[in-house]
Amino acid sequence: SVEEMDNIRKTNLNPALSIYYNEPFAVHQGYKQWLFDLKGKRYLDMFGGICTVSVGHCHPKITEAVTEQMKMLGHCSNVYYNEKIHQYASKLADKLPGKLKVIYFVNSGSEANDLAVLLARSFTGNSNVISLKNCYHGMTYQTMALTSNSHYKYPVPQNPGFSNVMNPDVYRGLWGGNKCRDSPVQTYRQCSCEGVCEAGEKYMEQFQEELNYNIPTNGLAAFFAESIQGVGGTVQFPKNYIKDVYSLIKNSGGLFVADEVQTGFGRTGDHFWGFEGHDIEPDIVTMAKGIGNGYPLAAVATTQEIAKSLTKAVHFNTFGGNPIGTTVGSTVLDIIEEEKLQENSKNIGTKLLLKLAQLREEFEIVGDVRGKGLMIGVEFVMDKESRRPLSPEKILKLWETCRDLGLIVGKGGYYGNVFRVKPPMCVTEEDADFTVNVLRYALYSL
Ligand code: PMP
Repeated sequence: SVEEMDNIRKTNLNPALSIYYNEPFAVHQGYKQWLFDLKGKRYLDMFGGICTVSVGHCHPKITEAVTEQMKMLGHCSNVYYNEKIHQYASKLADKLPGKLKVIYFVNSGSEANDLAVLLARSFTGNSNVISLKNCYHGMTYQTMALTSNSHYKYPVPQNPGFSNVMNPDVYRGLWGGNKCRDSPVQTYRQCSCEGVCEAGEKYMEQFQEELNYNIPTNGLAAFFAESIQGVGGTVQFPKNYIKDVYSLIKNSGGLFVADEVQTGFGRTGDHFWGFEGHDIEPDIVTMAKGIGNGYPLAAVATTQEIAKSLTKAVHFNTFGGNPIGTTVGSTVLDIIEEEKLQENSKNIGTKLLLKLAQLREEFEIVGDVRGKGLMIGVEFVMDKESRRPLSPEKILKLWETCRDLGLIVGKGGYYGNVFRVKPPMCVTEEDADFTVNVLRYALYSL
């Protein structure tokens, strides 16, 4: 029962594990885009376990493939040959452009980004890393320093400041848009205008200044960026921003790391990888979440040349690329193709975005509706003029009303005022309508 779980949580689980909703939501079962609670009530899961369940809960094809593999071999570590890791590495590499053909399997997005830092430092011989304001790259000790947002920072005993002291070589790249659609204030959270406003020279000058100021000549190891910021509240960059930054980074000798943990595997609709939407070819690509449909699988892809730099010392990962994980990963790729899920992301995502945009017209507190494919954010504000975030109490009420009506969405952004819609990519138009109708009802009853 929920009460029993409550007791165990208080006694045996670390209190830092945050839970959603005031009254806990106990998920018992899942099927495709649906979740079921202990009483058997059905919910439309428009969050997909934090943008992770890419092809649907308990997809029969994955269940079958894993069951068969379990009977054959569950684990042997990657110090031996096993056909699964080889078959999958080659299949995944086929999905990557250019020279990005060398894969290292790990188990989570944080681990993947951690390894990307090591690779970049090893390859370039430099230590400085730049990540962007409002980004999220993970929760390991290293990636915590990459992640921007003071909510995720721990005070450090020897130096009672916050986070970057954990890793003095991480700098924050700045960005923002002052030409954004109806945005009087110049801060990042107002910029959701991909295709509407231009990044412009000003931002590049600002960025170059940051580079000059913080980083000694030829001292950059890597620059990290999500193709669309996920945890930050589904935030898109101004047009050409990433492309322009890419050339600055290349000119400075650093490597460009594309964090595709949320934006990969067809989610953004137009492309299989989010970075393709920015017209760049990264040096390193990190991926997790949707790659394994909920199974702990992640990977780092890079070029042969960069990959070799890891051989300077012994590098090892017990579970990375294990037969079960790679079986899941391989089946996920098959399903995305067979069920045309990238196309569905584009089709349903575009329709959903339009339908949600209607709410922006109807309600003063819907500040913004943005995103691409099935990676959508709905921002709630006090009023459109000020764009100040809606109060946490009202956000919670909206969120819980949606849940009570059978709709699960995520929450994000620095102020927690953005609903995140990132469902399994098998959702239908009917699901899109349900989402909009429930949200409309919740907004009316606020
Ligand atoms: N990068 C991005 C873009 C993410 O959204 C996340 C997780 N929210 C991570 C990295 C870290 O992934 P994990 O939680 O699997 O360590």
